[in-house]
Amino acid sequence: MSQVHVGAHPGRIEVITGPMFSGKSEELIRRLKRAQIAKLRVICFKPDLDARYHRTAIASHSSQTLEAITVANVEALKAELFPVIDQIEVIGVDETQFFDASLLPLSLELVHLGKRVILAGLDTTFAGEPFPPVPDLMAVSDEVTKLSAVCMQCGAPAIHTQRLGSNQSLVLVGAAGLYEARCRRCFRPYVDEQGAKQLELPTGADQVPPSP
Ligand SMILES: [Zn+2]
Repeated sequence: MSQVHVGAHPGRIEVITGPMFSGKSEELIRRLKRAQIAKLRVICFKPDLDARYHRTAIASHSSQTLEAITVANVEALKAELFPVIDQIEVIGVDETQFFDASLLPLSLELVHLGKRVILAGLDTTFAGEPFPPVPDLMAVSDEVTKLSAVCMQCGAPAIHTQRLGSNQSLVLVGAAGLYEARCRRCFRPYVDEQGAKQLELPTGADQVPPSP
């Protein structure tokens, strides 16, 4: 085999999705760590929303962590990434549902440079509807891994994130116990008191451990 040149082989977009408590961050960390073992150079980003765990790491339920760069938005991500792009082969992004639609053209740009791009994020909102930009990222990806959680009501495989209680607080950081994974049968689409569908998730809620 001849030497593989960066950019000379096709890149790859992988999406890891599913509801809260389905292990998306854990799977992202697993893939990035395997890439590191394979001597590939890895960089990981997360949105600047989650200060409950390590400021510069992504965390999963199993307490696995990996160093990550916290960025406010896609523009900030690009500002961090492009100066070092020639030294990077694998790019991970956690909590992709908190980035805007410009993550899509960025992912395509990176894949055309021959990069492996791994994107983890929620595919549906509390209302049970597609959660942009994740559905569009899924559409252009090479591979989608859709993880299920376990329905906390009946034990069936769960594809939905149930928000519990009323929408009294704009910021529900670390609000363990306010969310459950639910199956289709047990899921009740979340609508707040004003009748508006709840599209936003609290910061980093995917990483909230269950209450003891
Ligand atoms: Zn259920």
